[in-house]
Amino acid sequence: MTITKERNVFEKASKEEIYNKLVEIFGENNVSQKPVDLYPYSYDMTESDPHMPDFVVIPENVYQLVKLVNFANTNKVPIVPYISGNNVGGLTIPEYGGIIVDFGKKMNKILHINENMMYALLEPGVTFGQLQKYLENNYPHLRYSYPFAPPYAGVVGNAILSGMNNLSCKLGSMGDSINGLEVITADGEIARIGSCFYGEKEADLDSWWSRYPMPDLMGLFINWQGMTGLVTKCAVQLWPNPPITKTFLAVVFGLTDIAPVMREIGRTEVVDDISAVSIEVIKMTVNLPEPIKLPGEPDFAALFPISAKTENLFNAKKEILEKTIEELRDKGIKVLLVDVDEFSKLFNLRVRCYLDLPAALLSLVEYSGLTWFGSYAPTHKLEELIPKVNRLFLNYNVPPFIYMKIMKHSHYGIFRPIIRYKKSSEEEKIHKLLTEITEVCIDGGCIPYKAPIWMTEKLRKKVNPGWLNLLEKVKKWMDPNNIFNPGRWNT
Ligand SMILES: Cc1cc2nc3c(=O)[nH]c(=O)nc-3n(C[C@H](O)[C@H](O)[C@H](O)COP(=O)(O)OP(=O)(O)OC[C@H]3O[C@@H](n4cnc5c(N)ncnc54)[C@H](O)[C@@H]3O)c2cc1C
Repeated sequence: MTITKERNVFEKASKEEIYNKLVEIFGENNVSQKPVDLYPYSYDMTESDPHMPDFVVIPENVYQLVKLVNFANTNKVPIVPYISGNNVGGLTIPEYGGIIVDFGKKMNKILHINENMMYALLEPGVTFGQLQKYLENNYPHLRYSYPFAPPYAGVVGNAILSGMNNLSCKLGSMGDSINGLEVITADGEIARIGSCFYGEKEADLDSWWSRYPMPDLMGLFINWQGMTGLVTKCAVQLWPNPPITKTFLAVVFGLTDIAPVMREIGRTEVVDDISAVSIEVIKMTVNLPEPIKLPGEPDFAALFPISAKTENLFNAKKEILEKTIEELRDKGIKVLLVDVDEFSKLFNLRVRCYLDLPAALLSLVEYSGLTWFGSYAPTHKLEELIPKVNRLFLNYNVPPFIYMKIMKHSHYGIFRPIIRYKKSSEEEKIHKLLTEITEVCIDGGCIPYKAPIWMTEKLRKKVNPGWLNLLEKVKKWMDPNNIFNPGRWNT
């Protein structure tokens, strides 16, 4: 594991001076340096090394943040942006201490919904549960795309980390659904990126409708894990909310046959999403804590939500789905298609959580520890990856929890072996297992997303040196004093 490096946060200003400045900017009630307030920010659910911040601040507006960035940049004090810390990669653990900027408490307003061009303009702290409720109450004809993350996780955090959600078979990465960003750069400048770039001071609320066609500066902030600046506004695309939605469940026998099933259904262009889990996960979902697969049982199950504006359209999509399953069966693949709404009635509410997102999926959050190798994956390699990773789980006597997704109608996929564990007793074993899984998957071409520091350390040895040098150059140029979430990507 990467050893936590110390950095002298108080090189240029004393702790007292920094505290007083923070109180001047944010007010006494919105600043703390008490260990009891700092502790929750020092760790997450993963096995990433914990580290305490020195301060936490709760911002209310962009002008406070400009003052903060100017001060931190002059005095070389780290700033770690934080929404709810649910990234499952230790990404908000302040590797070098410094100031946690907690957007989740007060910068959490839904600033505008443009019904016509279908987008929502959000402050960084808006959660999935909040957005879903707001749309349901005020704009029921519009929908957003939700991950398997809890309802209290952040929408903007998910989008700027290229999340994959329940419309991703159509949309691909959620990073692609960002229309515009407002950001504060290291020199304290406020920049607006996207079609909102007209206007000197404020942007028209209705001008956040497109990311292109100017040079795409958004890439300077997407997937950078808060290392290049502070996002203070983000516009995300919304989609029509069709009145008819139904989810089908495919049960697949044979460890690798799930791969062609997912790819072929993805290519039909009729499903909103495809997510598959190993059968052990289904057993966890129906409340078997440490399940094993018995001989003759299916290996994987996949969810296929379909939505349509009319019955005719729905039936046409369903027909295509059923025909594709038939064709797969003709090729010798053992797959059954089930109406999951009926199937879920046999079990308890834990199954429905997977269908009615956003929700706290108990099989993911009921243990004290949760970690994963979350990756973008080449879908033609899934047949290789599944048995190798399955074997590693079994070697460690851990139930295989493999989660996969098809993105953008089979252009690429997600391969995510997940491990839930007891933090107090299993951390070392689980980290060893995850390290082996990581090595197999990287060798198989997978690219970890939301990668923790120990994983980026491995990646740095594998990637093209030109890419790495460019990354370093951009980081240095964007953040010469290394104040923004220092340590990520081993910077
Ligand atoms: C049980 C569980 C299941 C999950 N399932 C999925 C899933 O199916 N699909 C999926 O995509 N994700 C999934 N996730 C991850 C989750 O969706 C996202 O990572 C999360 O929404 C990010 O929001 P957050 O509030 O946790 O952000 P945080 O963890 O607080 O921050 C995320 C990153 O963004 C940076 N950051 C935060 N705010 C700013 C800002 N204002 N400016 C610049 N940088 C900033 C942080 O420093 C950090 O690096 C899951 C998480 C859990 C716990």
